Amino acid sequence: MNQIKLNTPIQKSHFCDFDFYIKRDDLINEDFSGNKARKFYYYLVNDFPNVKKLVSYGSNQSNAMYSMSVLAKMRGWEFEYYCDHISSYLKENPNGNYKGALENGANIIDLQGLPRPFLETKDDILYIPEGGYIQEANFGIKLLADEITEWIKLQNGNNFKIFLPSGTGTTALFLQQYLNYPVYTCACVGDEDYLRSEFLGLESDEKLHPKILKTTKKYHFGKLYKNLYLLWLELHSKTMIEYDILYDPIGIETMINNRDVFGDSNVIYIHQGGLKGNITMLERYRRKYGH
Ligand SMILES: *Cc1c(COP(=O)(O)O)cnc(C)c1O
Repeated sequence: MNQIKLNTPIQKSHFCDFDFYIKRDDLINEDFSGNKARKFYYYLVNDFPNVKKLVSYGSNQSNAMYSMSVLAKMRGWEFEYYCDHISSYLKENPNGNYKGALENGANIIDLQGLPRPFLETKDDILYIPEGGYIQEANFGIKLLADEITEWIKLQNGNNFKIFLPSGTGTTALFLQQYLNYPVYTCACVGDEDYLRSEFLGLESDEKLHPKILKTTKKYHFGKLYKNLYLLWLELHSKTMIEYDILYDPIGIETMINNRDVFGDSNVIYIHQGGLKGNITMLERYRRKYGH
């Protein structure tokens, strides 16, 4: 697994009377997929002769943590990752991204509520902030934008709009910078003001920001919502594609409920991977609601 091929297909899809295209970034690679593969691609293909260790922090089931563990393994770096809290249940029954990261040799440190140490890139240490909220992400996201532009050139007409759900907003922001088509997104972590401030942290010119569409209701990230679970199940059975269960049901719901915004444009939805994170979320959903 030392070569990662990008250039994923764009396919026709249909859901809830809405026709759209889907960019299959979930297919990049089983272990290094989706937008984290794009965001960390810079660190995969460039030379870092001094780096021996990657450090980061975030939640104990984050997709970014798992992807960084894959990156560190491929590069032969140590990987040290700080979490505010890890339950004793998870420690005794590792699964999902947490288990995968451990299997890749990650040293996951439970801060047990104590303040996080000061982390920075220094000497032989490379520091990547939570969720890959970094300027360097533009390197891999430009390649995503180029693939989309090339594909659109081969279609009849160029009336296209892009939609993708956001966490830190890094992917949506850089995508808009490199695409001549409008990029729409919605906030899945925090609210629209949070997302706007995240955009501003990477790009001060608001004219270059993606457009934020309002979600149908206010969702708290990582919490269980029966309507999102049912939507995810229906998506799976009707499109035969496994979507991420944290971001995609909110994204698809927002896209479809805002169909008027897209008018007669063709919409490309970006599937941003993250399927390893589904394991723990699905267990929680099944325990609560059954199949
Ligand atoms: C990380 C992640 C996102 C959010 O990406 P941002 O660049 O932080 O907005 C969306 N979907 C999936 C599946 C992810 O893993």
